[in-house]
Amino acid sequence: MPIGWASDGGERPASPAREPERFTWAERVKAAAQQIIHNLTGLDSPGRDLIPTVWTRWETAIDDRVCQTCAPYAGRAWPAADGPHPPLHPGCRCQRRVAYVTWAVRN
Ligand SMILES: [Zn+2]
Repeated sequence: MPIGWASDGGERPASPAREPERFTWAERVKAAAQQIIHNLTGLDSPGRDLIPTVWTRWETAIDDRVCQTCAPYAGRAWPAADGPHPPLHPGCRCQRRVAYVTWAVRN
């Protein structure tokens, strides 16, 4: 019998009842980052602590009402706790959204 996916709707192996995985998104990202670091550097990173820094990017409303105060910040990113935070003025429609995460290895 061939190994693989049966396109004829044939009997599939019974999937065992599994506990739902309880890893959070952050834990999954951390595990992936550790694997990448290990692959690139050979460091045994799983034994080390990875410190994430979440960066957020300034987003304006991207229309012709974006003011002179906010326009210079458009597209800039800072670590989430740093930099200016909207609203900068009454009626400000800007927001900072998560852009990416950088990782440092704790030595
Ligand atoms: Zn604004």
